[in-house]
Amino acid sequence: MNCPNCGAPMRVRDGDDCLACEYCKSVHLPEKSKDGVALLRETSNFQCPLCAVPLEHALIGRYRTLYCIRCHGNLISMPVFVSLVEHLRAQQGDAWEIPPPPDPQRLRRRIHCPQCKQTMDTHYYCGPGNVIIDDCDRCELNWLDNGELMRIVRAPDHSLENSPSW
Ligand SMILES: [Zn+2]
Ligand SMILES: [Zn+2]
Ligand SMILES: [Zn+2]
Repeated sequence: MNCPNCGAPMRVRDGDDCLACEYCKSVHLPEKSKDGVALLRETSNFQCPLCAVPLEHALIGRYRTLYCIRCHGNLISMPVFVSLVEHLRAQQGDAWEIPPPPDPQRLRRRIHCPQCKQTMDTHYYCGPGNVIIDDCDRCELNWLDNGELMRIVRAPDHSLENSPSW
C-alpha cells in the first residue's frame, strides 16, 4: 500500500500493527475486516488454494498473514501461527466457546501448497478447537479456512479437559 499522504510505499514496522511511511513519517491504520484481518492493500505472488485468486498481504494483530478476500482463508507461516494463536488466546479473556465436532468431509479435501504446489497435509490440528487444517512442512505454511483460526482461539484448552481424573 502506498502512503495516502505522499504516495511513497509504506512498510509495516516490526512488531507493530500499523503502516508507517518512511518518507513523510505518517502512520496509517489499515482497515479491518469483520474477522479482524487488516488488509495492507498489497497483492502477494501466491494464489488461494481454494479460489485461485491472489492472496493479499494482511495483518492479524501485528502478525503477517496472506488472506483471501473471497473465501476469508489465511495462509500463515508456522512460526507466526504459533505466536499468533498465543497472542489471540491471551487477549480472549474468558469468552470461551465449545467448538462443534470436526467435519470429516474437511479431512478428505486435498489442496495444494500455494508456494511449492505439492499436496498439503490435511490433518487434525493438535491444539484446541476440533479443527482440521492443511499444512506444508517443506514451506512451513499453514492454511486455515474461514473461521478456523477463531475456533482454535476461542476453544477451551484440551490439556485441561483431558487431564487424568484418577
Ligand atoms: Zn508519506
Ligand atoms: Zn480463497
Ligand atoms: Zn509448500
